Amino acid sequence: MKVVVIGAGLGGLALAQRLLDADIDVRVYERDSAIEARFQGYRIGFGAEGLKALYGAVQPRLYPLLEAVSGLVENTGRAVDSQLNVLGEKERDDDEGRMYDRNVLRHLLIAGLEEHLRYDMKLDRYEELPDGRVRAHFADGTTDDADVLVGADGAGSTVRRQLLPHVGIHDLPMYGAIGRTPINGFEHLIPGWSTMVSARNVQLMLGKMKFQRPPVEAAAELAPDVKLPDTPSYIRWVLLLPGTPKTLDLQPVLDLMADWHPDLKALIAHADVNNSGVSPIKEGDPIEPWPTRAVTLLGDSAHPAPPGGLGANLAMIDAELLADKLIAVRDGHEDKLGALAGYERQSCENGRIGRESAAQVFKDFAKLRAEA
Ligand SMILES: Cc1cc2nc3c(=O)[nH]c(=O)nc-3n(C[C@H](O)[C@H](O)[C@H](O)COP(=O)(O)OP(=O)(O)OC[C@H]3O[C@@H](n4cnc5c(N)ncnc54)[C@H](O)[C@@H]3O)c2cc1C
Repeated sequence: MKVVVIGAGLGGLALAQRLLDADIDVRVYERDSAIEARFQGYRIGFGAEGLKALYGAVQPRLYPLLEAVSGLVENTGRAVDSQLNVLGEKERDDDEGRMYDRNVLRHLLIAGLEEHLRYDMKLDRYEELPDGRVRAHFADGTTDDADVLVGADGAGSTVRRQLLPHVGIHDLPMYGAIGRTPINGFEHLIPGWSTMVSARNVQLMLGKMKFQRPPVEAAAELAPDVKLPDTPSYIRWVLLLPGTPKTLDLQPVLDLMADWHPDLKALIAHADVNNSGVSPIKEGDPIEPWPTRAVTLLGDSAHPAPPGGLGANLAMIDAELLADKLIAVRDGHEDKLGALAGYERQSCENGRIGRESAAQVFKDFAKLRAEA
């Protein structure tokens, strides 16, 4: 069996690792020219279930490194106003989790996949072949045939647009200004696992990415063949703002915070601008199970939802489910379309969970804003 995965995000890489481990022929095609081609270094929180699925996608010899480069989830989260007065505290439902830098995690998930991963390979479309296989057509004119093609190509998925053209995806009239600031001098702003600053016109989410050990140092000692980026511990901040700009300009953000506590203004003013940017907030129509074929979807492509803290967790869980199904097909325990249909039902259910979580996050924001 041969599987072609479109997209080397967290979900596509996790699936490829699992398939490779099961000796299934897998190729990953990524449109970017390199893993670091775009700003992608933000903090991702994993709950117990997502973390378990992540560990299943990483080679066991790398477990000590995976733990060393994680951040711990500590104490309660808090909501504060723009002067840092505490508005409320929130226990985490699940304190077994860990924090990861997305860029560091992607490097870890690439380890061992190098010969199976090609960059600069943008999928244009796929073609279903008469024998039940699928042909991927890339922008450079090349093709690759597979028994199963997996669209792990994110919220704006090309694969989903062809497979499910009726599913709309909309930019919400707001954007996330996402940045990071070196942790030194700012750690006091986040005594727990996160701090949410709520003012009437702006909401600022703060999270701490404090590596248990610096990634480069930990890799050099625990797995010298793995190259991790030299990322220092940082405070990740996300501002939800109205509008849809293409680039991040800090001055208008600071203008909005003119009467805020000086430590909060300093946090934004000291941002590492090379690792800050803007992200449109997208919302997709709910997706119901579709007539199954040899093409399927995984992660954000299968359930595009506004960031609600669960997307990467669900991508890991999708990857586990889909890998198990594909292994069962390879071993003759299930037929291909039946196995994929079973996976897609569960993935759609994951999508529902993701949408509910995102809706709850937005509801909580609205409530805090009203209280601020
Ligand atoms: C600021 C922020 C904070 C977040 N925090 C959390 C969190 O705390 N917890 C959590 O669980 N989730 C979080 N998320 C969501 C999480 O990052 C995503 O859900 C997750 O990364 C989705 O992974 P994916 O593999 O499905 O897609 P992606 O990571 O989007 O990867 C898709 C890949 O496909 C490639 N691609 C796209 N089109 C093509 C094409 N045509 N051909 C070839 N390649 C293509 C892209 O270049 C990309 O590399 C956060 C998101 C943001 C923006």
